[in-house]
Amino acid sequence: MKITDIRTFLMHVGAPAPKAWASDNAFGTQAYSAGITGTRNWLFVKVYTDEGIVGIGECSGWPRVIETAVQDLRRILIGEDPTHIERLWQRMMSAIMVHGMTGTVGAGAMTGIDMALWDIKGKALGFRSGTCWAGRSATRFASTPMPTLRGRARPEGARRHGDQMRWCVGPGAQGGGVARCGGGDMDIMIDLHGPPWLTPGDAARLARALEPFNLLFIEDPIAPDNLDGYKRIRDAAHVPLAAGERMSTIFGERDLIERELVDVIQPDTGRAGGITQMKKIAAMAEAHHIMVAPHSGSLGPVAEYAALHLLAAIPNALFLERIEDDWEGRAQTVVPHPVSVDGFLQVPDAPGLGVDIDEAFVARFPSQANISSQVSAASGSYVPGTHDENVYVQTRLQRGRYFTGR
Ligand SMILES: [Mg+2]
Repeated sequence: MKITDIRTFLMHVGAPAPKAWASDNAFGTQAYSAGITGTRNWLFVKVYTDEGIVGIGECSGWPRVIETAVQDLRRILIGEDPTHIERLWQRMMSAIMVHGMTGTVGAGAMTGIDMALWDIKGKALGFRSGTCWAGRSATRFASTPMPTLRGRARPEGARRHGDQMRWCVGPGAQGGGVARCGGGDMDIMIDLHGPPWLTPGDAARLARALEPFNLLFIEDPIAPDNLDGYKRIRDAAHVPLAAGERMSTIFGERDLIERELVDVIQPDTGRAGGITQMKKIAAMAEAHHIMVAPHSGSLGPVAEYAALHLLAAIPNALFLERIEDDWEGRAQTVVPHPVSVDGFLQVPDAPGLGVDIDEAFVARFPSQANISSQVSAASGSYVPGTHDENVYVQTRLQRGRYFTGR
């Protein structure tokens, strides 16, 4: 089998539903972001073969830029056997190195292509993609909704979504919310997200204050590149930590895992380097008794399928993050569209990834722009016109609200 062509499908994506995570923060409101930041983009990749098998993949990590990267990589992949996945991944990695160390853009490009290659291999063998490397250990996975609780504790709203919730403690969160949510019959996770980020000292103090609530984890408590800061929090508080959504490849996730700075690793299925890298990251984590919860956030539905296949084939799967009440066009973007039942998603049975995009629907939403705006008044994270309008790490002046409740 030979690769004959690689094509990209880039689309503008509306903001999640008004009550969903990210509907009023860095992505801005739908109307606001459509004109300024472009909210989200989804980039899908199709790899075509001379045997008529077509593979589908998805890239995150700045999709508009990655589209160009995929088109560059296309040149070295035409004529290659798509089933030689590891060799082609290494070839892509070597080709990108001329630009320096690979970040999420390069890894995002490799991710979409790698995902499509696993789709092709599954279709060629007649197996679901996960079966190609490990078989299947489970048939369904818990999906973790991200209800909007920003600034207010709404335990009743969280319970609508089942027995798990993640409270995105963003800017504007007021003290006392966790106290009212905790102690119930659900697992609670808190995502400090950023930017702006807490300092390690403040994050450690917050983590200690949250010890009594038996959190499943605190996610991204500080800037992702401050690994020594993670160690400080680790030493100061007995609260599970999760991180890794902004890293890519085994090299990006390695220190979080090998230094056991987290209890849950969260590689992003669209930019971690593909299924090839995700399963290696999962194996590294397994050796350190670390669970895997693939990051989703702004990801589209094709990557969600890839995450399901990964989770079904590894022993240390925790759950799949997802925005339950996402943009209404999400369901029309792919066929079939996964629907969670009682908080669980079914692992597809069709050969390969088991999903395709509706190309005509995708073409109706051309990309406009795709950056994050930090000055949405609704977010409260930055105050337009003040000194902290654009900072990476926010000092106590603003973040002190966490501790005072004011
Ligand atoms: Mg997160």
